[in-house]
Amino acid sequence: MPIPFKGGCHCGAVRYVCSEEPTTVINCHCEDCRKIAGSAFITGVLVPPDSVKISGELKSYKVEADSGNDITRNFCPICGTRILVELEGGIGVSYTTLDDNSWLEPAVEFYANKALPWVNLCSNTEKQMDMA
Ligand SMILES: [Zn+2]
Ligand SMILES: [Zn+2]
Repeated sequence: MPIPFKGGCHCGAVRYVCSEEPTTVINCHCEDCRKIAGSAFITGVLVPPDSVKISGELKSYKVEADSGNDITRNFCPICGTRILVELEGGIGVSYTTLDDNSWLEPAVEFYANKALPWVNLCSNTEKQMDMA
């Protein structure tokens, strides 16, 4: 695995380096994630706390997730790319912001029961009905 791995937003104003190996890669089908993704689900790379170093400015806002936990979503204020979300005990980096995500694929699907009817879940993922 190419550790550290790097990524950034669409316009280039925000860059990051992650110094730890991901703990897992998830697809989330909850309504919040679908709304901010503007798509059918989000793919997130979960990494340990304090493992991501950001260069550039992020804007953030805190929301209560379906799980009841507070999560803080961080995005580039210029282009709006979602970079990462601060979770209880970790960070979720947006899969699509990695410079190279070809070495990672989803292992778990959160809210598999909420997936849109036209979405085919990955054949080799663990399906969870609620947040872990
Ligand atoms: Zn940007
Ligand atoms: Zn979600």
